[in-house]
Amino acid sequence: MYKDNPAASELTNGSIILYDLFFKEKNKKSIIVHESSHHLYKKVAPKDIADFLSMSGWSIEVTLDRKVYESPPKKLIQPYSALDKDEDFANHVESYYQNPKSYKATHPKHYDFFNQRYPL
Ligand SMILES: [Zn+2]
Repeated sequence: MYKDNPAASELTNGSIILYDLFFKEKNKKSIIVHESSHHLYKKVAPKDIADFLSMSGWSIEVTLDRKVYESPPKKLIQPYSALDKDEDFANHVESYYQNPKSYKATHPKHYDFFNQRYPL
């Protein structure tokens, strides 16, 4: 279903699917970290998810008839972070692992958030 992606996560079965493209990628670690983060997202405490989303600038509005409207942050870490909250989370974790120094400089609050929970 994501044939242009190097990998995808199958959350129902708790698995990560690696496509042909994955084996041609230089940075395999980042891909695995990213995909693992999709699985992690499902296990993070709701309070922590709420903190992450508000820190990132997601706005979530629930109307009286219980319709949920989600708007992504205006400033995104990756363009496809806008797809989904857990995509945004996975992109943040990937940056945190890939280059902690520059991530700390560009996203200090996010860095502290992840560093308190998942120290490197
Ligand atoms: Zn993803």
